[in-house]
Amino acid sequence: MEKNQDPAVKGEPVSFIEQFIIDDIKEGKNNGRIHTRFPPEPNGYLHIGHAKAICLDFGMALKYGGKCNLRFDDTNPVKEDVEYVDSIKEDIHWLGFDWEDREYYASDYFGRLFEFAVDLIKRGFAYVDDQPADVISTQKGTPTQPGAESPFRSRPAKENLDLFYRMNEGEFEEGSRVLRAKIDMTSPNMHMRDPIIYRIIKSAHHRTGNAWNVYPMYDFAHGQSDYFEGITHSLCTLEFEVHRPLYDWLADQLRTGDYKPRQIEFNRLNLTYTMMSKRKLLELVQEGRVNGWDDPRMPTLCGLRRRGYTPEAIRRFIDLIGYTKVEAINDVSLLEHAIREDLNVRVPRVFGVLDPLKVVITNFPVGMTEDVELVNNPEDESMGTRKVPFTREIYIEREDFMENPPHKFFRLAPGTEVRLKGAYIIKCESFNKNNKTGIIEEVYCTYDPATRSGGDTSGKKVKGTLHWVSVKHALDAEVRLYDRLFVHEDPAGQKDDDYRKFINPESLRILSGCKLEPSLKSAKPLDKFQFQRLGYFCVDYDSTESKPVFNRTASLKDTWAKINR
Ligand code: ATP
Ligand code: MG
Repeated sequence: MEKNQDPAVKGEPVSFIEQFIIDDIKEGKNNGRIHTRFPPEPNGYLHIGHAKAICLDFGMALKYGGKCNLRFDDTNPVKEDVEYVDSIKEDIHWLGFDWEDREYYASDYFGRLFEFAVDLIKRGFAYVDDQPADVISTQKGTPTQPGAESPFRSRPAKENLDLFYRMNEGEFEEGSRVLRAKIDMTSPNMHMRDPIIYRIIKSAHHRTGNAWNVYPMYDFAHGQSDYFEGITHSLCTLEFEVHRPLYDWLADQLRTGDYKPRQIEFNRLNLTYTMMSKRKLLELVQEGRVNGWDDPRMPTLCGLRRRGYTPEAIRRFIDLIGYTKVEAINDVSLLEHAIREDLNVRVPRVFGVLDPLKVVITNFPVGMTEDVELVNNPEDESMGTRKVPFTREIYIEREDFMENPPHKFFRLAPGTEVRLKGAYIIKCESFNKNNKTGIIEEVYCTYDPATRSGGDTSGKKVKGTLHWVSVKHALDAEVRLYDRLFVHEDPAGQKDDDYRKFINPESLRILSGCKLEPSLKSAKPLDKFQFQRLGYFCVDYDSTESKPVFNRTASLKDTWAKINR
């Protein structure tokens, strides 16, 4: 990508973070280098919130000729899994970003982190505390009251060193001792009040096995990993703002020259009608409330992909919401708008009838097939045209016919005329109704040969145009209609109610016996289409040639906006 040192020159608006980066380059900080990282914890699948961080971390590096590392923050041995590592890599690539050969693991630095801890102990900046966690926590004080010093705070370095080594040798039980940085128990910032930097955990780690019995805390590992990798801008979410003094303090203890990584915080992405907590998303999966991490209702990247979202639409959405210092909740309809806009210009339009009603065109020759030509996408001529077979018997959408239509129903009804898109104008002459069930079974029409699309010489005008599929050529398909997973805007944010209470019972409706035009026979999983007049659909992984399965990505219009008004 083109290196652009100062987009302000072009008049593009830049985020406050980008402005910091521009200024740092101008000032020649870190020799003008830009090096970022994306640091996922491999304890779940990536969601759209992570996409916001990914687009910034990789995006800034790309734009300013820098690099972005992928660093797995695997400091907690008990929660992590290789399955997650693989999915995270797949999802970042899918979004369109690449870390080249820079795939790192915080666990690779366990040795150097341990050495740094030893160094802090030797310099009198860390001590082993023998008190249990709850005592340490009460001694921390409150934001308005200073903390109390641990009785172990002035333990001699030699003794601390001995104990720390023995902690790592497995001599002590989990929770019996911790290593704390010796900073300031009276600091107005709680994180500076002698934070714990190492704890004893006796579980095997997925990469280092049983090599360690002590593991660094997040704050101790994260900033130091940044330093080891030469990161210049460590971009993270707002909840880390209060950790920044500790980040800086540790970096100052570690650094030997001018280079110092800089932490900058931005607001998290939150979306209406869903939730971003990996723990809760895992619950949905484990409790079988959705069909896995890639269920098309999940806000995960793999779920959105299966739903039919494109990386372009997701990146566009992230661009639209931007980066600020203010926590907010973004409207999911903006995301839906982004996917509609993207698919509208990019995917072919086809005919699919979800709830078929058979129409017989009584004056059309039996056994004849006429191929009519249809434009694939009026927004993009280069997408060409295709032939769709038209015959005496077709399916239309059941809701496009009414026996007793209200005023202004411009679709099919006894005695009225409509156009079949790309084909002819037909007139409804009669219909067959099952007297027991009241269900309309067939509709009988005549067509006017002079009304063929593209060569209409009849001078007739009709108000309604319907999509249709030839009975003989129709592909039978299952269609999964997905809707929002929750009926509440902020399901996880309600104090008195569990989020499960707000699960939308209609978030998935499965239709079978849908009729699709035959050109869809060769469609492969994740191929995307607009079913005309209905919405955007994509082929599901479960699809086979004998049993095609399509997922609805989005309806053509935002139906929720109306409901909520
Ligand atoms: P956990 O709750 O397990 O800590 P997390 O959501 O912070 O989860 P991480 O794997 O630690 O997940 O996140 C990796 C990176 O993605 C971090 O830099 C984090 O700040 C960022 N990130 C996570 N969630 C969001 C979000 N909703 N919006 C923007 N960035 C996010
Ligand atoms: Mg995290």
